[in-house]
Amino acid sequence: MDSEILIFYRGMALVFGSMIGSFLNVLIYRLPRDISFTLPRSRCPSCQTLIPWYQNIPILAFVLLRGRCFSCKNKISLIYPSVELLVGLFAFFTFPADFSFGAILSFTFFFSVFCVFITHFVIDFQHQILPNGLTLYLALVFLMYSCLAKPWTHWAIGGAVGFLFPLAVAWGYYLLKGREGLGAGDIKLYGALGIYLGPVGILQNIFFSSFVGSILGFGFIIFNKMDKNKPLPFGPSILIVAFVQIFYPQTFLEAAKLLGRAFTF
Ligand SMILES: [Zn+2]
Repeated sequence: MDSEILIFYRGMALVFGSMIGSFLNVLIYRLPRDISFTLPRSRCPSCQTLIPWYQNIPILAFVLLRGRCFSCKNKISLIYPSVELLVGLFAFFTFPADFSFGAILSFTFFFSVFCVFITHFVIDFQHQILPNGLTLYLALVFLMYSCLAKPWTHWAIGGAVGFLFPLAVAWGYYLLKGREGLGAGDIKLYGALGIYLGPVGILQNIFFSSFVGSILGFGFIIFNKMDKNKPLPFGPSILIVAFVQIFYPQTFLEAAKLLGRAFTF
């Protein structure tokens, strides 16, 4: 394909990607608050003024409004344009250069996984909730992918290990401490990821996400950003590690090897 035409398609992918990011923002705001995400139009979270369509243009509206609501001048969270930009850039960089069926299918798969990851990440970070609908979506697309590309033992054992191992750990923790350490949402997310990552991959994820989670948790406590007795959102750590495993598998293996060496010598 001509490089000029490819740039054109990628530009389109950037625009459509940021529009999908704008829809993800609706999910991020409404899913944890149980507001329907189809019917009512968007309102400013501070003053409840209806937002006209031109103030909903991804990224651009945020820049033109200088990050403030047009009506009440309250600050709009930086999270919203960041989600739009990240999804747009992901579409820009991964949009396939050829339009073969396989390339389009693979793009759709990875793009939708990325979208769910970002939505899950922000909602868990803000509300300590991993909505079941999103985890179920991941489980289904991972199952479809793995059925096509892997032997059944890969996804069946991976899913079982991903669900049962954290469940056993959580149960043991509850018996010892009498309170919940790992949430039900985290356990279900591990299960869904196991379907894609397989038994070895999901055990690596559990190991690394506990590691990342402890570092983040320690940081939060040091900087006094969080209550020691409040459970930390653990989903972001799981998702960061899974993101590297799925989108940069080579980098992940190198990092795992390096860490393995650091622990053996
Ligand atoms: Zn407002």
